[in-house]
Amino acid sequence: MSTTAPESLGDAARSFIASAPHKLLIGADWVDAADGRTFETIDPATGNPICAVAHAGAEDVDRAVRAARAAFEGPWSQLPAAGRSLLMSRLADLIEANAEELAQLESLDNGKPVTIAAAVDVPLSVAHLRYYAGWPTKIEGETIPVSWPSMFTYTLKEPVGVCGQIIPWNFPLLMAAWKLSPALAAGCTVVLKPAEQTPLTALRLGQLVQEAGFPEGVVNIVTGDGETGAAIVDHPGVDKIAFTGSTAVGREIGEKCGRSLKRVTLELGGKSPNIILPDADLDAAINGSFQAIYFNTGQACQAGSRLFVHKDHYDTVVSALAAAARGAKLGPGLDPSTQLGPVVSAEQYERVMGYIESGREQGAEVVAGGSGANGRPGYFIEPTLFTGVTDDMRIAREEIFGPVLVAMPYEDLDEVARRANDTEYGLAAGVWTRDVASAHRLARLLRAGSVYINVWGPSDAAAPFGGFKASGIGREMGHANLDAYLEVKTVWTSLA
Ligand code: NAP
Ligand code: MG
Repeated sequence: MSTTAPESLGDAARSFIASAPHKLLIGADWVDAADGRTFETIDPATGNPICAVAHAGAEDVDRAVRAARAAFEGPWSQLPAAGRSLLMSRLADLIEANAEELAQLESLDNGKPVTIAAAVDVPLSVAHLRYYAGWPTKIEGETIPVSWPSMFTYTLKEPVGVCGQIIPWNFPLLMAAWKLSPALAAGCTVVLKPAEQTPLTALRLGQLVQEAGFPEGVVNIVTGDGETGAAIVDHPGVDKIAFTGSTAVGREIGEKCGRSLKRVTLELGGKSPNIILPDADLDAAINGSFQAIYFNTGQACQAGSRLFVHKDHYDTVVSALAAAARGAKLGPGLDPSTQLGPVVSAEQYERVMGYIESGREQGAEVVAGGSGANGRPGYFIEPTLFTGVTDDMRIAREEIFGPVLVAMPYEDLDEVARRANDTEYGLAAGVWTRDVASAHRLARLLRAGSVYINVWGPSDAAAPFGGFKASGIGREMGHANLDAYLEVKTVWTSLA
């Protein structure tokens, strides 16, 4: 089929796209789907197809799981820990060496500004692999002082086995790095499924995995849709599922894993509160709150989508945010002057516009944005700010996953803590204040996996990230996520 490559793409990205239709990585080979199906990945800045990608079905998933099992029981388990470390470091180096191409592919496929892909997505992916590359040689069991003197008891930490990893479209390469890194460090093997909207960087990553010299079958990549994901979850040969995405799909996966007793970690949605206290540095709070919601066009699970402003500063903050939103430059991700790219897909466009409509219908007021593409191609939505919002409106309760912020006034700290926690989610929360006691009081009161004080959304491979309540189970990053890929085995030896 023909492919579409914008003028601004470099030669490497262009030639990767031209090599379509892209295939599945199963064992050592790149193969077509067993039934020959393909789908098109779309450029969200234009709505045009970029190229064709294989659509894996249950038979392909089965082959990928068997390849992962063979690698797990074969060469991968025989490789010393330092060998895993070295391969992971090599993969990090290769991502770094191909950073420009990866950033361009990410921008084209997802719509995000190429400047952000180059400054955030790619370097954080490298950092993630490098952090976890340090772990294989430090996975240690313990000797346990049990009550029998004649007993020698110790624990071993062993890899869980074959892991199915299902990732979303908002940070495609970075989510792949978040998932692969702890699994590989622990000694697991993987079947990875990128989102149908953004398969390209995971496929390029698969080539780099091979170039780094990983044994065949350690990493398998199957592209497809929700059915492909479900086939991974349903496969009896998979020991653990790691999922990032919507709470609705997360619930379904959790339920299935409960029945089959697969290990499962879920990183899900959010409706994160961001609180500006009366003594905050207002400039910092306004800039931070703008980034908290509009970064990545609002398509971030930890987006600060509910802004609570002390009533004394409400008007000032709202007018500054509205002015900044009106001034933000929307455009195709590959244009280096773009601040906000399109949302990822036609479906997401309809979803977000539906929420904006529901806000208007329920009586909230749009003070900035509120419109869609306005005649231009692609899935653009203006950064939108609502006032006159009550806590029970859909726009204040449901995850929109787009550039839509609700700003609400409050009067005192206990009131705002209660309203901030009045949500089914618990992924992140932010506090802007110069008062140390209020900051840490709120940090304790807020029911969220991450609390940001005078900053929004910093991320580091060493720092755990994940959700309370309906925002998920388990933690990404840090040694918490390594543990999610390890089983503890207790060995008892009688010395009598
Ligand atoms: P989604 O359906 O949860 O997709 C996430 C991943 O799960 C994708 O790889 C998807 O595949 C796969 N999947 C879908 N149905 C599945 C199933 N039944 N079994 C196993 N895997 C399945 O998310 P979405 O539809 O793209 O986005 C909808 C909403 O989810 C967004 O508006 C947002 O609220 C939320 N979301 C949250 C995050 C986050 O970081 N927490 C990320 C993305 C979206 P395909 O995409 O290929 O079908
Ligand atoms: Mg796409």
